[in-house]
Amino acid sequence: MKERPHSGTAFAAPETLARPGDDERFMRGALDEARGAIVHADVPIGAVIVREGEVVARAHNRREIDADPTAHAELIALRAAARELGRWRLMDCALYVTVEPCAMCAGAAVLARIGLVVFGAPDERAGAIRSVAEILDAPWANHRPRWRYYAPSREESERLLQEFFARQRPANDG
Ligand SMILES: [Zn+2]
Repeated sequence: MKERPHSGTAFAAPETLARPGDDERFMRGALDEARGAIVHADVPIGAVIVREGEVVARAHNRREIDADPTAHAELIALRAAARELGRWRLMDCALYVTVEPCAMCAGAAVLARIGLVVFGAPDERAGAIRSVAEILDAPWANHRPRWRYYAPSREESERLLQEFFARQRPANDG
């Protein structure tokens, strides 16, 4: 993972967005949400969307149960937040997600004008914030969400994934 200085442009007033001190609480919510995916054999990734210190939407990955390639936690949570708030512009919201978003979800965060993205673990193969692409910092985008990597959640985010894949493996081999 490349170390890069953040270059996202502040969009919403910083005081309306989740502060670094809130990261633990909201990332815990995203991790709790991620566990809900295991019940239906989906990869445990969870997301919450926060506005003014309150969670307005939460979702976990539903790709398998919905047979939907786009049913990633972030995308479902963005849709739910827009429904909840009655608007598609989410500039005053922060997206917390347990794993670095893919290109689709990072793109959706840009389209939603999300104010801030916080992720718990980098994804070296598909992460599109700083691992394989830098969608949120793309100079061609009309909106650049701010983002930060919340390192204290990395271990738990990765452990959820590792335990999930360890359980899946015997079934796939058999
Ligand atoms: Zn995604």
